[in-house]
Amino acid sequence: MADSLRETSVPGSERTDEIEEFDAIVIGSGVTGLYSLYRMRQLGFSVRAFDDAGGVGGTWYWNRYPGCRFDSESYSYGYSFSEELLQEWDWKEHYSGQPETERYLNYVADKFDLRRDIQFNSRVMSATFDEAESRWEIDLEDGSRARGQFLITSVGSFSAGYVPDFEGIDSFKGISCHTRGWPAEGIGLAGKRVGVIGTGATGVQLITEIAKEVAHLTVFQRTANYCAPLRNGLIDDETQKKIKASYPEIFRKCMETAGSFMHEFDKRSAMDVSPEERLAQYERLWAEPGFKKWLSNFHDVMIPGEANEDYAEFVRNKIRERVHDPVVAEMLVPKDHMFGSKRLPCESGYYEVYNQDNVLLVDVREAPIERITSKGVKTKEAEYELDVIIYATGFDAITGGLIKLNITGQNGQKLKEKFAAGPRTYMGITTAGFPNLFTVNAASVGNFVRAAEPLVDWVSETMSYLRDNDLKRITPTIEAEDAWVKHVNEDGANILRTQANSWFVGANIPGKARVLLTAPDTAPAMRAKRAEVAANGYEGFILE
Ligand code: NAP
Repeated sequence: MADSLRETSVPGSERTDEIEEFDAIVIGSGVTGLYSLYRMRQLGFSVRAFDDAGGVGGTWYWNRYPGCRFDSESYSYGYSFSEELLQEWDWKEHYSGQPETERYLNYVADKFDLRRDIQFNSRVMSATFDEAESRWEIDLEDGSRARGQFLITSVGSFSAGYVPDFEGIDSFKGISCHTRGWPAEGIGLAGKRVGVIGTGATGVQLITEIAKEVAHLTVFQRTANYCAPLRNGLIDDETQKKIKASYPEIFRKCMETAGSFMHEFDKRSAMDVSPEERLAQYERLWAEPGFKKWLSNFHDVMIPGEANEDYAEFVRNKIRERVHDPVVAEMLVPKDHMFGSKRLPCESGYYEVYNQDNVLLVDVREAPIERITSKGVKTKEAEYELDVIIYATGFDAITGGLIKLNITGQNGQKLKEKFAAGPRTYMGITTAGFPNLFTVNAASVGNFVRAAEPLVDWVSETMSYLRDNDLKRITPTIEAEDAWVKHVNEDGANILRTQANSWFVGANIPGKARVLLTAPDTAPAMRAKRAEVAANGYEGFILE
C-alpha cells in the first residue's frame, strides 16, 4: 500500500494541516521498532516509525553511561531474520558494550534501508483513536500529525527513566544526570567527587567503570544486590567462525528456554544431589561466563524454597570473599530478598571497587537521603559534598513508556486511567477499548531480540489477516482480558519475580500499583498461546 497525504482543515483556523497517512505507525526505533519496520514493509504495509531520539537504537541509543553492555551473549542478541546479516556482522566481544551494540543497530538500519521510514527527533505527545474512521492519530511535539490504521508501541521496557522526587533536587550546583540521559560527548569525571545513587544492574556497571577515573566516589545504596561475574572476553577469529556456523543451533536453543537465553536449567533438584556435588556444580558454573550460573543451575534454584536459599548463601559468601573490610562486605551482602527475584546484574570487578581508598559506600536504607543540597547529597546522618550526582535510579518500567504517550481509545478512555491499578491486557499485547493498538513493548521479556522477532511476526501476520479478510479492526473482548489479568495475577503470585520489591512488579515507583508487569509464562508458552489464538480465528478478539 502506498503512503498518502490527506488534507484536513483545522476548525476555527485558516490553517490547512497535512496529515500523513500510513497503514501502521510505529513508535520507537530500537530493537523492536526496527524489526517492525522491516517486517511490516516486507508484507506490503506503509509504515512510519517516530522516535524522539536523534538516531536508531532505543535503549542502546540513550544508555550511553560508562560500562553499559549486554549481559546476554552478543550472538544470541542479534536479529535472526537475515542469514546475510548474521554472516556479515562480527561481534567483537562475547558481551557487547553499548557503543558496539549501537553500531550494530545502525548497521541494520542502513543495510535494510530502514532510515527512510523513520522520523527522528519526533516526540509523540499523544495518540488518539478515531472511532468513525477506525484510525489512530498521533500528535508530535512540533505540532504535526500522522495517522495509521495500526499503532505499534515499540518503546521498550525501560524508556521512562525514574529520578526520585528528592527535595531540593534542582538546587544542586554541580552536574547531575540520569544514566539514561548520559550525553554522547560524555561527562568529564576525571579528578571529580562523584556520587552515584542506585545499585541495580545499571549502577553496578557504571560504578565499576567510573571508579577507575574519579577522584572520589560515594555510592548511595538502599538495597544490596546479588551480582555475579560476567567474565567477558574478546571473540577470536576461530571462535567467530564457530559462532557463525552455529547460529541455527544458538537460536534453536534460545527458542526452547523460558527467557529465550542460550542456557538451559539442569533438570535435577539441588537438594537431590550430595552437598559435595551441589557445591561442585555451583563452583563450576560460577567460573563460567554470563547467566550460566543463574540459568543453567539446578532448576529449583529459581523456585522459592530451600534450593534457592542454599544458592543465595553460596553467592553471599562469594561477595564476602572479595571485599576486604568485613563491615563493608556485610553491607554489600543481600539479605532481604531471594536470589533471582530481581534481575541478576553481571559485573566485571564491581566488588573490588569497594577495596579502593577513594570509594565510600553509604547505606541509605539506614539513613535515607533527606534532600539534595547545592553542594551534594544530605542523608539523615551526614552531608556528602560532590561535583557530580549520577542517578542510577532505574525506570518506570514497561507501563511508564506507554503511559507517557497519552493514549486515548474508544469513548475517550485514557490508557493511563485504564492501567491505574496495573496493566489490563490480553496476552500483554492488546487491550480492550483500544482497537488495533499493539503494545509490543509490554510483551517482550527475557532476551529482547529473541522475544521481539516472533512477537512482531505475530502482530504483522494479524495485520495481514485483517487486510486479507477485509476487516478494519481487532480488539480483545473484556472477558478475554479479564481472564488474562486473572492468569497473570494468580500464576504470577508464586514465581520468584513477584517476591522482591523491583520494577517487575512496579514496586520501585512510589504510588505505582504492585502488580506483575510481565506475563508469568515462559517464552515458548507465550508463543504457543499466540499461535493457538490465531489458529482459532483470533479467539478472544472481536474482528470488525
Ligand atoms: P533498578 O534495577 O530499578 O535499580 C535502581 C536502583 O536505584 C536500585 O538500587 C534502587 O534501590 C535505587 N533507588 C531508587 N530510588 C531510590 C531512592 N529514592 N533512594 C535510594 N536509592 C534509590 O534499575 P536499573 O539498574 O537501571 O536496571 C533496570 C533493568 O534494566 C535491569 O533489571 C535490567 O533488566 C535492565 N538492565 C540491563 C543491563 C544489561 O546488562 N543488559 C544493564 C542495565 C540495566 P532499591 O533496590 O532499594 O529500590
